[in-house]
Amino acid sequence: MRAVLSIGSNMDDRYALLQGVIDEFRDDLVAVSSIYATPPWGVEDQDEFLNAVLVVDVDGIPIELLRRCQKLENDAERVRTRKWGPRTLDVDIVQIRNGAQELLSEDPVLTLPHPWAWQRAFVLIPWLEIEPDAVLHGTTVAALVENLDPTDIEGVTKVREF
Ligand code: ADP
Ligand code: MG
Repeated sequence: MRAVLSIGSNMDDRYALLQGVIDEFRDDLVAVSSIYATPPWGVEDQDEFLNAVLVVDVDGIPIELLRRCQKLENDAERVRTRKWGPRTLDVDIVQIRNGAQELLSEDPVLTLPHPWAWQRAFVLIPWLEIEPDAVLHGTTVAALVENLDPTDIEGVTKVREF
């Protein structure tokens, strides 16, 4: 099965944390987006987020992929520098598909597609970079990006390639 993963970090060593995800999936990687910076909103006393999207091709069942993602998050928690500090590492499964068939799940443990992905600029913009023809729940990602608030789009800036 093929999965689209959204990864994000706003801890000090956020490049290393994102790189750790790439390393974990190095044998399964289909595509990796550039790294994008997204300003924090709501709580302003924290660093900007770095986000990226990767497409992986993995064996097994979806819950095994989720566990793999959660292990990466848990490992990152262990190197957290300050208590109640900003988010170290978030690894979300945006979509899982078999061929063109998109997996749908309303299970709160693993909701597919990810419930907020369709409106998150920091997911859609990197995703569009690596899969220009991607479709999310029947709508093209290109169309979803067009419908975003221009301010949200401007906030997501390409920093560098992986
Ligand atoms: P968010 O990523 O929405 O900011 P969290 O990472 O804290 O919040 O959410 C983690 C919870 O979300 C986990 O308990 C996990 O089981 C659940 N979850 C449901 N659907 C997904 C998904 N598609 N990808 C990752 N986690 C998911
Ligand atoms: Mg998450």
